[in-house]
Amino acid sequence: MKKSDIGIIGLAVMGENLTLNLESKGWLVSVYNRTVAGVEEGVVDRFTSGRAKDKNIVGFNQLGEFVNSLQAPRKIMMMVRAGTPVDELIEQLIPLLSAGDILIDGGNSNYKDTERRVEQLEKKGFYFIGAGVSGGEEGALNGASIMPGGSVDAWRDVRPILQSIAAKAEDGAPCCEWIGGGGSGHFVKMIHNGIEYGDMQLISEAYFIMKALLESSNDEMADCFSHWNEGKLKSYLIEITSHILKYKDADGSYVIDKILDVAGQKGTGKWTVINALELGMPLNLIATAVFERTISAWKEIRIEAAQAFNREAPKKTYVTEQLLVEVENSLYASKLVSYAQGFSVLKQASEEFGWMLDLAAIARLWRGGCIIRSAFLNNIAKAFEEDPQLFSLLLAPYFKDEILNALPYWKKLVSVAVREELPVPAVSSALNYFYSLTASWLPANLIQAQRDYFGAHTFERIDLPRGVYVHTNWKGDG
Ligand code: NAP
Repeated sequence: MKKSDIGIIGLAVMGENLTLNLESKGWLVSVYNRTVAGVEEGVVDRFTSGRAKDKNIVGFNQLGEFVNSLQAPRKIMMMVRAGTPVDELIEQLIPLLSAGDILIDGGNSNYKDTERRVEQLEKKGFYFIGAGVSGGEEGALNGASIMPGGSVDAWRDVRPILQSIAAKAEDGAPCCEWIGGGGSGHFVKMIHNGIEYGDMQLISEAYFIMKALLESSNDEMADCFSHWNEGKLKSYLIEITSHILKYKDADGSYVIDKILDVAGQKGTGKWTVINALELGMPLNLIATAVFERTISAWKEIRIEAAQAFNREAPKKTYVTEQLLVEVENSLYASKLVSYAQGFSVLKQASEEFGWMLDLAAIARLWRGGCIIRSAFLNNIAKAFEEDPQLFSLLLAPYFKDEILNALPYWKKLVSVAVREELPVPAVSSALNYFYSLTASWLPANLIQAQRDYFGAHTFERIDLPRGVYVHTNWKGDG
């Protein structure tokens, strides 16, 4: 029997669709899924007699047979639940592998686990690639954004396969490039997910403002998002927001109005923020987005608090065209701040972990397939091509002009929201970050004085060279 080009383990949403995508590109694929005791017809049988019928896909219910069906060096992509299942699977696979075989983890694994697994597998003579995959079900089937990192020596063998199933950007480039060593692929995917949290929060705040201050109908808001999708905000999330707002149930009512205002989360946003904190990098906007999901989940508390404070309803005296320009500009400028923060974290991680990340290449591979794909990633790529050492995107000449153009509208919108007591935490956090970043003087001298007062932590003086730390006896005569 002809040996397969690649094997997929895990036939849930992602594994199943990636398998079909691989097959459609001409690869012979073996598939395996663990068998659950008591279930007569396993997942593999259902898949190979259903969607995968008559395709170049071979199903296996035994892990050993699955591994033996693969061409050397074996390429096995795991699409299973992140965490312990990946380690359990690796343990089962190790005795079945031969030197030089390649394991690819396409799930949302924590990059620290991937670092450990790369080391573990390489020590045994195998290769391990942690590949972040974005794009959900649709991307998995028709072209995803793929961020592979880990054992670089395996990249030559895996590259044609992964690039064939990746989305293609407008210029035809595959949205899959080698990221770097260790857990860098999963780190980049994690930052992608964090940025996704930020974008979604910002879009929700725009929706909130339109609903609260303009009493716009769902159709009006859908048209507005659709219009914005033709300009600088052009992106997948803006596009789907327009579709979502218009979408009606069979009874003609809008689905969006029936959805409980409690946001879920699986944890990659939280990881992003934790890692930014560990790296000492501000990631205000994404942190705000994660915290807002938590506050949204306090539904009962919010209802009680709303009754207790009985805040005034916002006035509805705003000029639609004017306010919408303010919302569009605020959304754009805040999004820029969010990406600037995200890329700064990537730069810091790259320096700290020695990954030598190509930030322009990362921006380019997010242009297609993934959830945060958007037109302005081209401009981000250009900014890093022009200056790979750029400290913050906000300091690139192009984005500096963009921010200056948006600033009057952005300030106006935040003050309107504050006056009307409407929460726009991400938009205002972005504005405050911009103010802090561009302030040549901040009141941190007072913080230093307080630290020295109660803890003798010392401080630097402006009349002494940098790096000279002194202490004052604050309780003395002065
Ligand atoms: P999932 O619900 O995250 O995982 C289900 C798969 O994991 C099933 O095949 C399941 O097998 C298998 N599994 C669970 N525990 C296992 C264990 N102990 N040993 C072996 N297999 C085990 O599936 P998914 O949504 O397709 O996602 C797969 C991976 O891709 C995850 O890491 C996910 O975070 C990531 N991802 C998902 C999306 C998305 O949109 N869904 C997007 C990007 C990345 P059984 O069928 O036997 O339970």
